[in-house]
Amino acid sequence: QIITPTVAEMPEGITGQGYFATSFDKAVGLARKNSLWPLPFATSCCGIEFMATMASTYDLARFGSERLSFSPRQSDLLMVMGTVAKKMGPVLREVYIQMAEPKWVIAVGACASSGGIFDTYSVLQGIDRIIPVDVYVPGCPPRPEQIIDGILKIQELVGNESLRRRNSEAYNDLMKKYNME
Ligand code: SF4
Repeated sequence: QIITPTVAEMPEGITGQGYFATSFDKAVGLARKNSLWPLPFATSCCGIEFMATMASTYDLARFGSERLSFSPRQSDLLMVMGTVAKKMGPVLREVYIQMAEPKWVIAVGACASSGGIFDTYSVLQGIDRIIPVDVYVPGCPPRPEQIIDGILKIQELVGNESLRRRNSEAYNDLMKKYNME
């Protein structure tokens, strides 16, 4: 007769379920959140604030994000900053698809979040119409402190995210919603 132990009876430590569900998750989360490689998808004025955020006064390097990547395949944080015209939409979507998992997205400023003041036929009314967004930073433009706050919020998400989330039912549903299966 095979006796299967309940979860409560499983041993803790490196061989126990608890190790991978808690400690290992936390260690990977800590490493990931402090070494984000952002891809700045800057199309207009909000991008200028991002330049200030990277410069010496605000110094985003303090949060482990000094290594910007202009290749989607070498970045895990997409920062969309500026007005996104509908014609630009397919390009943004392609960039997102080219990024490897796990990946996160920040909509920086009113235009990226909702179209901002450009409530017009040619402007995408928020990038979440075509790609999933994890954090929205308000402002027109947001100050560098707000952009840093957005990065800290992402770090919180990344640090607490289970390694299994990306294969979860909720995540697969999200991919279906955006036609990215
Ligand atoms: Fe420019 Fe304001 Fe739009 Fe940012 S939110 S891109 S500052 S108009």
